[in-house]
Amino acid sequence: MDNRLKEFEEGHKEFQKIKFKKSEERFKKLVEDGQNPKALFIGCSDSRVMPAMITGSNAGDLFIVRNIGNFVAPYNPNADFHATASAIEYAVSILEVSDIIVCGHSDCGAIAALFKDITPSPENIHTIKWLELGKEAKRVGIIAYKDDKEKMLRYTEHISVVYQLDNLLTYPAVKRRVEEGTLYLHGWYYDLENGYIDYYDDENCEFKALTQK
Ligand SMILES: [Zn+2]
Repeated sequence: MDNRLKEFEEGHKEFQKIKFKKSEERFKKLVEDGQNPKALFIGCSDSRVMPAMITGSNAGDLFIVRNIGNFVAPYNPNADFHATASAIEYAVSILEVSDIIVCGHSDCGAIAALFKDITPSPENIHTIKWLELGKEAKRVGIIAYKDDKEKMLRYTEHISVVYQLDNLLTYPAVKRRVEEGTLYLHGWYYDLENGYIDYYDDENCEFKALTQK
């Protein structure tokens, strides 16, 4: 074998020797009993956002779906392929998670891309289509801070999370369970630079610190 992925092979060796050994019973039990995660976590594919690490969670705790920009495509039975939609349905109807977290983050490349003129080509056509899911957030971002690019980007990253929560409610199973009081939706914003998470307070329409800083 060549050495292309040497750092990951070393990491895996360490995982086998130490981390897997340490939690072996837990891993076995999760196979015997099956998974029963508490929450569905919808996060950005960005390599700097690490759902398990920032929540201190373990194997079996989070059902995770990640995509460019942590977008939630609205319910659409006519769509051909919807990875995020199927993950939502599976988590909500089969695994019966009690919580869904949509987690945005600072310095998000997807949000920044909303404000760039990208020339369509066969190499980016899916991305351009996917980014349409951020266009409402972009519009509000421009209205709020069109003269300050940094503020506009940070604001759009936040407001996009709120729009994705709205999109979640277009899924019949999500809407039903939220109305029944058996499913709770959470909007989070992770700051890459300081490691803190803010949550969206729906009653006051503002983001607040999840924990004391
Ligand atoms: Zn991102």
